[in-house]
Amino acid sequence: MNCPGCQSPAAEQAFDKRLGGQVLLDVCHACHGVWFDAQESPQLSAAGVLQLFREMHGKRSARTQLLHAMKCPRCREVLSRTHDMARDNRFQYFRCPSAHGRFITFFQFLREKGIVRSLSARELKELKKHAQLLQCSDCGGPISLAQDTACPACHAPLCILDPKAVGVTLDDAKKAAAVTGAVLAPAVAAQLLMDTLQMDGFFRALDAQAQQASRAAGNPPPPAPSENSHGVDIVETVSDGVDLIDLGMDALFSVVGGIGDLF
Ligand SMILES: [Zn+2]
Ligand SMILES: [Zn+2]
Ligand SMILES: [Zn+2]
Repeated sequence: MNCPGCQSPAAEQAFDKRLGGQVLLDVCHACHGVWFDAQESPQLSAAGVLQLFREMHGKRSARTQLLHAMKCPRCREVLSRTHDMARDNRFQYFRCPSAHGRFITFFQFLREKGIVRSLSARELKELKKHAQLLQCSDCGGPISLAQDTACPACHAPLCILDPKAVGVTLDDAKKAAAVTGAVLAPAVAAQLLMDTLQMDGFFRALDAQAQQASRAAGNPPPPAPSENSHGVDIVETVSDGVDLIDLGMDALFSVVGGIGDLF
């Protein structure tokens, strides 16, 4: 079927379900969105959630913009934007008025599952020392840390993967794997992962990425801050901004990807 979010062809793929079996989801790599038929979202197992991480992160590309009026792939009715709350996280999705299912972006899905958390004011302040430009994890638009604390285009907050929530998901997947006799993630891997995902690890990764970009550009001199009409310093940035969730996913798969095929 075509993705309701952007009308690109979406791939139907099987993911592990709670209590065994598989559920088919329509995954769109163009706009980073997923179509869940009615009741499919709560049915994903922890391993299924991790499979979806691997799928979305592994095939990520520049994002196609979402349509203003999305239509239900089953009945063609216009999907209605719905705001919801799960574990203190606000998230949104687009649902069919006749309950055929819903479309959600991968970022909003992570919000729903409580796997990402917003940055604290202190972390935001610290982040500004390491990066000027970020890429919105939801729409892919630029976020200038000098002016913005959320995406100016889609209003998504700045989020990082929550190491605790990732640890819990890994743990759940491990327990379920123990029942079916699948390969287990050693506990040390989960610990290592949690350390990597802490803010310090993020800042090291950000700095490393900035250095790499600077080397790739032939070590140009650091850009001189200029002033705009409001008297605010602007630093011209050569590279596109960093997506904090992508950075976290890189860390996740650098750890779990190295221990064999876990999921
Ligand atoms: Zn799409
Ligand atoms: Zn429908
Ligand atoms: Zn955005």
